This record gives sequence, C-alpha cells and structure tokens, in this order.
Amino acid sequence: MKDLINKLAEEHSLNLEEYEALISGRNEENTRLLREFAVKVRREIYGNDVYIRGLIEISNICRNDCLYCGIRKSNKNCERYRLTPDEIIECSNEGYELGFRTFVLQGGEDGYFTDEILGGIVKKIKDNHPDCAVTLSMGERSYGSYKFLRACGADRYLLRHETADSQHYSRLHPLAMSYDNRMKCLENLRSLGYQVGCGFMVGSPYQTVKNIAKDLKFIETFKPEMCGIGPFIPHKDTEFRNFPPGSAEMTCYLLSVIRLIYPPVLLPATTALGTVNPIGREMGIMSGANVVMPNLSPVKVRKKYELYDNKICTGEESAQCRNCLNERVSKIGYRIVTGRGDFRVPC
Ligand code: SAH
Repeated sequence: MKDLINKLAEEHSLNLEEYEALISGRNEENTRLLREFAVKVRREIYGNDVYIRGLIEISNICRNDCLYCGIRKSNKNCERYRLTPDEIIECSNEGYELGFRTFVLQGGEDGYFTDEILGGIVKKIKDNHPDCAVTLSMGERSYGSYKFLRACGADRYLLRHETADSQHYSRLHPLAMSYDNRMKCLENLRSLGYQVGCGFMVGSPYQTVKNIAKDLKFIETFKPEMCGIGPFIPHKDTEFRNFPPGSAEMTCYLLSVIRLIYPPVLLPATTALGTVNPIGREMGIMSGANVVMPNLSPVKVRKKYELYDNKICTGEESAQCRNCLNERVSKIGYRIVTGRGDFRVPC
C-alpha cells in the first residue's frame, strides 16, 4: 500500500484497480501517510491559507427529484422559499463588509430564476463589487443559459457530478434525469471558460468501492478547478431516510487522495462534513482541504434549505459564522484569507 501511495504522490494517477485497493485499504497508517503527502503539496501551493466563500441559498424550490435530497420536488413537508433579487444583493453586500470576495449562489432548479433574472443578479453583484468572484450552483441548465450567465459575469460554476457511474447515477436520481446530461453540462461549463467544480457524496446509497474509484478517475481526467465532496446524510422525508450516513474518516481520506490526484484543486471542507462530526471541517483542512463555505443566507430561511437532517449553522448570523470559522481555522494553525481565492494555475 505504501508503494501505491508513493506512486500517487509522484505520478498523480493510478488505474481503477489501484484506486480500489487504496479505498479498500484505508487504515490508520495509510490515512496518516496520505495526509502527510496531501498537507505537504497543499502547503507548497497554498501555504496555510484557507479561502472563504459566502454561500447564499437563494431558493429551495426545485423541479428535480433527486432521491437523496431534502428539497426534492416530491417532499411535501418542505416549506418552500425564494429570496428576492434585492435580498440576494443585500446578502452579498453584508458578506462584502465581512470580508467575503466570493459569493456562491446556490439553489434548487427554480424556474423563477430565468437567465434574465439570474443574470441581472450576477451583473448587479459584479457591478457593486468588481473585486469579487461570483460562483453559481443552480443545477443543470442549457448551453445557451450557461453562456448568457457567463457573459453577465459569472466566474465559476459548481455542479457535482454526484457519481461517475451511470448505473449508480440512475439509482440516485429519477428517470427524467440523466448521467449523460450532467456530464455534458460539466463539459459545456468548461468550454465556456468557467472555473468548474464537480464532486460527489461519500457513502451515498448503493455506492461501492468501484464507484468511488470511477469518481477518482473522473477527477483525474477532468481536472476540475474545484471539487466538493462531503458525506451523504439521510433526510427524514426522503426514501433514503434509513440509509447510514457517510463517515467523516472516509471523506477526509478521500480529500487527501484528491489533493494528491490534482494538487492545485480548490477543495472545500464542507458543511456536511461539519455535520457528521463536530470537528469535521477542521479534520478536512488537516487532510488537504483549503476552502470553507460559511453561510450568508438570511437566518429566516436557513433551516428551510435542508438538504439533509441536522445541518449545522442554521441559527447563526453571517457575522457569527465568519468569526466562528476564523477561530476554528486559526486554532489548527491555518489562516482564513480574504480575496477571491482563484484557482492557481500549476506551473
Ligand atoms: N440544485 C443544485 C444544488 C444542489 S445542492 C445542483 O443540482 O447542483 C448541492 C449538493 O448537495 C448536491 O450536489 C449534493 O451532492 C449535496 N446533497 C444533496 N442532498 C444531500 C444529502 N442528503 N446529504 C449530503 N449531501 C447532499
């Protein structure tokens, strides 16, 4: 196993069987070795810096019905909300005052957010704060739509691929959604010049070691600028309610692996990781993650954007989240930096 880890650290590539062996072979010793390599390369590129992104959850209205997700269309218990363009702009202004220079607009696939409306919001944020980056995470849209939003000033787009195995994809999604379209969206985003983020849930229902190996291979070949991985956490109003959550340990192990696969990748320690373990985000940073995404949504809607049960940070004001993370990050010897925190092109 040591040989495999050395090979990964040197060549940034393994074949599918090797990835499978690496995933199955997780133990304390391998975790430590991977983590040491991952922290070292992370330090070479990003030092002790941790980037922050202000997450604004703009709507929980969704036309999709992803089986794992708490805001899926068929969840009748979900109390729906949508922020107005003015409320979204207000969140970004508040975030700017708190030192945020990247705003992530995330939401369900809500038909209200046409290209004109969403593009107008992006433009406004960029006009107000030309030194900021805007990231969108609004699901699958057409090529033309992505193109328009890019022209409005959107810099980055997060669209997790969810799983790089089409059969597994179809067990997590309704028939109307397709793996091919998800992948096509990622290609389209890339061709339009976005910094692109893919990613997957760790421990999602029916996920096998082979599936994760494929996810890693996909990341190795696609080379995303950003990669969001977090544990799957069941939501009580979905049919996956009785599936066990993914573990913080496996998530951190994979964070180290992904750091070694593609050293410059922007890798968040996610809210889901902080939900399965009270110090999950700290563990993530110490495993190779270099981004945190505190919530900037108005407190009145936070509980309603419930993708999974017991999501953390739903009661705090934005400023409290910002301060809390500052403390957590500096306690473990890292520092939160303001600034856009763009992907650093490898030399
Ligand atoms: N509609 C957007 C945003 C989805 S929410 C889109 O399609 O991209 C962002 C991410 O949360 C999803 O990509 C998914 O990977 C994650 N997520 C959803 N439900 C989850 C759950 N039950 N546990 C953990 N993560 C979940």
